[in-house]
Amino acid sequence: MILTVLGCWAPYPRPGGACSGYLLQSGETAIMIDAGNGTFAELTRHVNFRSLKALVITHFHPDHYVDVFCLRHAIAGARRAGTLQQTLKLFVPAAPSEIYNKLASYTDAFTVTAVEQLPETRQLGIHAKWAKLDNTEMFFVPTAHALPGYALLVRRNGKSFFFSGDTAATDQITLAAGDSDLFLCEASGLDQDKEYLAGIHMTAREAGLTAQKAKVKKLVITHFWPEYELSDLLAQAGEGFNGDVTAAIQGMKVNL
Ligand SMILES: [Zn+2]
Ligand SMILES: [Zn+2]
Repeated sequence: MILTVLGCWAPYPRPGGACSGYLLQSGETAIMIDAGNGTFAELTRHVNFRSLKALVITHFHPDHYVDVFCLRHAIAGARRAGTLQQTLKLFVPAAPSEIYNKLASYTDAFTVTAVEQLPETRQLGIHAKWAKLDNTEMFFVPTAHALPGYALLVRRNGKSFFFSGDTAATDQITLAAGDSDLFLCEASGLDQDKEYLAGIHMTAREAGLTAQKAKVKKLVITHFWPEYELSDLLAQAGEGFNGDVTAAIQGMKVNL
């Protein structure tokens, strides 16, 4: 699998930047994960949007989903023009229902599945929802955040990629991230923000400590406050984790 960072800022981007969005490619399978502000334009630098197999939205905060409206028009337009046949598979939380219902109404562009409707699995040792696309397995793990949401584990060809979404550090997240080849984890602040972020986000240090407990092979931190220095976030994440840690940068590719 190859991970491409489409955007790494939250909750608003730096100049020329984009918010949460990632492209995960393996063979013919291209999955977009989150579609924050500016990520659609970034996506089209790397792939034709027509080749996407699915879009997973971890939760309905604007910095994780607003570019779904760009995709809606791109796909509906391509289908009208006859350059695309199928709709795009969307995996999203069912709540807030007004957002879910709006996306589900765009039947000219999307086939929407609520994660809550997927079958349940105990394969990870915790309750998770499960879906399969080609040879790619996806596990959705509930997050601890201000809105209902899911972290995402993707397994293919014996490799595993885990994305935290937006979440506080929890035992469930650590278990689901266990031994993953690549752990993409939110790092929403520095030690000084610990109280402000409590219960809904991780600091960079908590991302590192989670990676350490989960014994992941590689940690990439993301979801950065635009006014922070990445070197400060990386330093605090690195104090928690003994392994390889990098900061997500737009356009960066990671092989796993
Ligand atoms: Zn959020
Ligand atoms: Zn966020």
